[in-house]
Amino acid sequence: MKIKEIGEKQLIKKIAEIVAPAALPAGFLGIGDDAAVNSVAQGNVLVTTKDMLVEGIHFIRNMAAPADLGYKSLAVNFSDIAAMAAKPRYIFVALALPKDIDLEYVLELYRGMVQLADRYGAVICGGDTVGTPGPLVISVTVQGEANQDELFLRSGASPGDLLCTTGPLGASAAGLFLLTENICCDEEMRRQALQAHVRPVPRLDEAAFLSASGLVTAAMDLSDGLLKDVTEICEQSACGVLLRENQIPVHPAAVCIAQEKGENPLDLALSGGEDYELLLTIKPEGFQCLSDDYLTRFGQPLCLLGEMTASGGIVMVNMDGKRESLSFKGFRHF
Ligand SMILES: [Mg+2]
Repeated sequence: MKIKEIGEKQLIKKIAEIVAPAALPAGFLGIGDDAAVNSVAQGNVLVTTKDMLVEGIHFIRNMAAPADLGYKSLAVNFSDIAAMAAKPRYIFVALALPKDIDLEYVLELYRGMVQLADRYGAVICGGDTVGTPGPLVISVTVQGEANQDELFLRSGASPGDLLCTTGPLGASAAGLFLLTENICCDEEMRRQALQAHVRPVPRLDEAAFLSASGLVTAAMDLSDGLLKDVTEICEQSACGVLLRENQIPVHPAAVCIAQEKGENPLDLALSGGEDYELLLTIKPEGFQCLSDDYLTRFGQPLCLLGEMTASGGIVMVNMDGKRESLSFKGFRHF
């Protein structure tokens, strides 16, 4: 059935049925009135983020299952919420829908979102649906709740702080290669790369664990690639950074797939993008202890990449011990 056969009112009713099982607490209002009503606990702050995905730019409609696309549209927002050390609470979804799109496609998008939302106790509270003569557009807003004293910002790093990530990099870019080209590789590496690209796990649990330590000085999530993203922390913290090539955590799937394709795996880790790991600066004195606890809790250590410096710019010590200045080669929208 096409959405144009049932109209907007019926479409919203069907969406509400998918969203409804996770009911809002008493006193809150979700889908159905002119606006949603939410609140946060006393002493907490509301953290709001929005990400928009456009068909043809962020995804190819016939290459992604709609439930996966729904999941990822929400996961990229949850990743930003994690980057602030907040907990996701309220979700608003606006869709611009090509008129010939199938009803089932739209409902699957929501089912994918609800799978992820339920896992973290967040609720879809409203949004908007419009018809469009153009491509499918998915615009998601997420509001999260955070303790003001435990917020992660990009601006808090100091020279000497250690730079690390919550996990290895480059698997998502490798997964994109697998989707767009015919590449032979180990089955388990294939599974991990596709998983990283199609269903990235927002690092919400990791962020909650790390923020409770009080040792994180700055953070952001890695969406555009390490080299581009790290410049944000450098600029906002008025620092430079020294990276060590032999410590860049290249995901094993990125190594395997890049080599198969004749690319340098390091490039995928530095500039591939869409990793959705957190990039963090941490006070050096507590790092080892924190990393050990992190290993116990999450089954892998924090990945140490280098340290923040007083002078500007990104410098990498390569395998031969030589220092070179780097600039990012990530995706540009404009
Ligand atoms: Mg971000």
